[in-house]
Amino acid sequence: MKLKFAGGVGVLTGSCHYIEYNGKKVLLDCGLFQGRRETEALNDQPFPFNPEEIDHLILSHAHIDHSGRIPLLVKKGFKGKIYASNPTYDLCTIMLMDSAHIHETEAEWKTNKALRKGLDPVLPLYTKEDAQISLNQFQPVLYESYEEIDDNLTIRFVDAGHILGSSIVELWFKENGKTTKLVFSGDIGMKNKPIIRDPKIVEKADYLILESTYGNRLHDSADERVEKLAKAIIDTFHNGGTVIIPSFAVGRTQEIIYELNEHYDGDSDYKKEFEKIPVYIDSPLASKATEIFKKNAHVFDKNAREKILSGDNPLEFKKLYFTQTVDESKALNVSNEPKVIISASGMCNAGRVRHHLKHNLWKKNTRVIFVGYQAQGTLGRMLVDGVKRVKLFGDDVAVNANIMNIEGFSGHADQDGLLEWMEGFKDGPKKVFLVHGEDEARVELANKINEKFETDVILPNFKSEYLIENDEVKMLEAGEHPLGDESILEEVLINAKRIKKEISKPLEAFMDTVERDDEDHVTIEKLERLQGEMQQLRALSEQVLIMTETSLEEKKLTVKQYKRINNLVRELEKTLVNMSIKTGK
Ligand SMILES: [Zn+2]
Repeated sequence: MKLKFAGGVGVLTGSCHYIEYNGKKVLLDCGLFQGRRETEALNDQPFPFNPEEIDHLILSHAHIDHSGRIPLLVKKGFKGKIYASNPTYDLCTIMLMDSAHIHETEAEWKTNKALRKGLDPVLPLYTKEDAQISLNQFQPVLYESYEEIDDNLTIRFVDAGHILGSSIVELWFKENGKTTKLVFSGDIGMKNKPIIRDPKIVEKADYLILESTYGNRLHDSADERVEKLAKAIIDTFHNGGTVIIPSFAVGRTQEIIYELNEHYDGDSDYKKEFEKIPVYIDSPLASKATEIFKKNAHVFDKNAREKILSGDNPLEFKKLYFTQTVDESKALNVSNEPKVIISASGMCNAGRVRHHLKHNLWKKNTRVIFVGYQAQGTLGRMLVDGVKRVKLFGDDVAVNANIMNIEGFSGHADQDGLLEWMEGFKDGPKKVFLVHGEDEARVELANKINEKFETDVILPNFKSEYLIENDEVKMLEAGEHPLGDESILEEVLINAKRIKKEISKPLEAFMDTVERDDEDHVTIEKLERLQGEMQQLRALSEQVLIMTETSLEEKKLTVKQYKRINNLVRELEKTLVNMSIKTGK
């Protein structure tokens, strides 16, 4: 059996793993690369296998970073069946069409620009027609049922507790009279999440492909996050401000609706306050997805099913409004009524939420509440990291709003959750391949797994290839970092230079104040201390630059170096933000 990693390694998105067994070829997921420009450019690269030769595709769940290249695969000649759980299929009917629509619109826009320059038109990655054809190839499968998809491969989906329909996939491969069991975790959810059931424990695996999104993080507890969200909303409402919750249209938005429903229709302490606060879902995709959730209530967890039986639909409440048209969306920013707007995309790199940010970020009484993972390079990440100005639709917008990050809402298990899920194995796995995480998270989780289970962990690269034979794993191809070493270095270098430049501003301001206030000893003492801190920062920044430049010259960068540089930059950025707060600059 051969295993090749065609996405979702080294970067978070683009999940896609290729397996060859007994002359057949199967793919696990075929996700879109999302995030910054360099990452998205990977979608234009040819697949590292021939799509015409793929026999089957197994899809863990509907999120676009797992499903978004399926129409492209079909366009390039894949004719086989696509196995997915029933709710995953339902969600894909809206999500793949939506994704195709985005690609078509983008290509149209780029074409107009190109034609004006006398260049050729730009073709979309795929069209709605391609998406429709791929939907016809889906073969929905029930949870927990064994499906023999050919003589040598049997699969089974079990609930991964991540989003509606999400699955952990068990695969039994028969080769040379021997059966090898591979488990693909897909994305593992958190326990005790609303609506969705807990991730199912799997007891046996020879090999495991495990996600590592939050491999280096711990979430807030469920009670804390619900409390934090409620208090933040009430607080903002009292200040006459708007709460903007950038949210993934599918999954997270329904989860937030469910949590809020508790304050409107349940027996929450905040009922009186919430009764006055309108909540707008401003995302056509989120509205459609909510309908699909309602249709698939049979796979909800016990609490949600009980609510429905008692007559309270947990995805509806009196003050909840779904906006449809662009005009309705625009009207939200014209009115000064305090409100909650839940809008996509979750990382603010696209979608209607960008308009709401443009109109509200500069206001002091606005509160932006992030409830999901923010990937590097996205607007969401910049805001969480404390950036003071952003560019939106060509306008410079000051960030005066209160930015808040509630991590407990994550759809992903955190480090403890992943380790706990792994404890469920009674037999195996012999080796764990870590995927679906930024390198820092992968490295830290690998260390933890090593410590706890004494299991070998492999961190595959993009396009790296392994041969699994006679209980041994042999590397055939080392692969490469998906973004290339140099692109990472450049990013770090740009960051380091920016920091160095920004550090000098508050430093000069200090010097200014020191000179003017020389009679006030307390102030001088304080300033001197701050000045010392600033100098340390400068030295740190210098160190980052030297390290990066050396790596650049040597044209090599290991995960370890990358991690070190990245940590340094992060540390610098954090300190810088603190300094800006202290100096008011
Ligand atoms: Zn996912």
